Amino acid sequence: MLNSTLTGRRGLMLVLSSPSGAGKTTLARKLMEQCEDVKLSVSMTTRTPRPNEVDGKDYHFCSEEEFRGTINQRGFLEWAKVFDHYYGTPKANTLRDLEAGRDLLFDVDWQGADALHDQMPNDCVSVFILPPSMAALEARLAARAGSTPELIARRMRDARAEIKHWRRYDYCIINEDLDVAFDTLWQILCVERTRRLRQDDLEPHVRQLLDEL
Ligand code: 5GP
Repeated sequence: MLNSTLTGRRGLMLVLSSPSGAGKTTLARKLMEQCEDVKLSVSMTTRTPRPNEVDGKDYHFCSEEEFRGTINQRGFLEWAKVFDHYYGTPKANTLRDLEAGRDLLFDVDWQGADALHDQMPNDCVSVFILPPSMAALEARLAARAGSTPELIARRMRDARAEIKHWRRYDYCIINEDLDVAFDTLWQILCVERTRRLRQDDLEPHVRQLLDEL
């Protein structure tokens, strides 16, 4: 278990994006398993749950009407239409967690990453996961249960569209080896946690150090 003590600092927003099949979900899952002090931000979506998905854990599944209601109440930090469905990041929970000093992990597309960066520039750290090659990406998509040639072709088109936004991210990781990619992601999190501007709890510590002289 990789751990780092929760300090009195404000939490940060670790935003992950990638084309489908590049390993983002696997990396996110691994991070959640190994870092108990990082919490996954659970988005709202209008798409139907997949067989292994749990409402409230993977997503808050909702109707289009409910989603529109949340937009009208300004309940999202960002929302976007991705493929054929709506996805949104709930605002209140996010702000509450950050203020409580909890680091949050976001699994969003490039539109979400862009919007979160705009809204919360001091809190956001964005990471884009790239495949080592398009052939490797296609092979990973083909190995998925239920994949058809049409679905793979569509995902490959979507992947090209998503990859074009790579320059908007703070960090890019080429996921050739999952363990190496995970180590890099973990290092990014550790380094970003120690940014001086995030460590607002250091003030009393330094004052005490100086008083000891
Ligand atoms: P899936 O339906 O496969 O779980 O997700 C489809 C895409 O929607 C993925 O790229 C995922 O990162 C993105 N996504 C999930 N939640 C959100 C969200 O709250 N906002 C945005 N902008 N994208 C999201």
